[in-house]
Amino acid sequence: MIKLIILDRDGVINLDSDEYIKSENEWEAIPGSLDAIARLNRAGYRIVVATNQSGLARGKFDISALNAIHRKMHTHLSQYGGVIEAVFFCPHAPDENCSCRKPATGLFDEISRRLRVPLYKTTFVCDKLSDIEAAQTAKTEPVLVKTGYGQALLDSGKLPDNVKVFDDLASFADSILEAA
Ligand SMILES: [Mg+2]
Ligand SMILES: [Zn+2]
Repeated sequence: MIKLIILDRDGVINLDSDEYIKSENEWEAIPGSLDAIARLNRAGYRIVVATNQSGLARGKFDISALNAIHRKMHTHLSQYGGVIEAVFFCPHAPDENCSCRKPATGLFDEISRRLRVPLYKTTFVCDKLSDIEAAQTAKTEPVLVKTGYGQALLDSGKLPDNVKVFDDLASFADSILEAA
């Protein structure tokens, strides 16, 4: 059985901001999210991240700041005994029309290729409509959390039918681990 779960970063693992997460000091985990990743790991799940980081192209932060943010994420997660295997990110701005910025599927295609996992056996946990659309096109199963922009998407009525919704990453992990 393939056990790979793909996570959006901002609004799923850490608090999001309209002003972008530009430095490690601005990165703050959502309560329960790091423990949730560690619990999934212990149940045999590999975890990777697929995240749009257009702040790079917009000059809001540079690659060394992004690396520092991810070092902090990995370090804090390790305190719970968890591991994120890889972070796949799109560095482009929307007007660059790249193939990796969600709702395009490039990040998912790369995950599938690099990890040799068929996407239809994976789940993508996310908080925006563009994430849901990317997942549906890439054939990974989208799951919405209400953290980040998730509640706003629910309130808008634009969430496609048949997409499962959870309060947060911790409650998503609860449901996976109960079903196991
Ligand atoms: Mg997000
Ligand atoms: Zn891109």
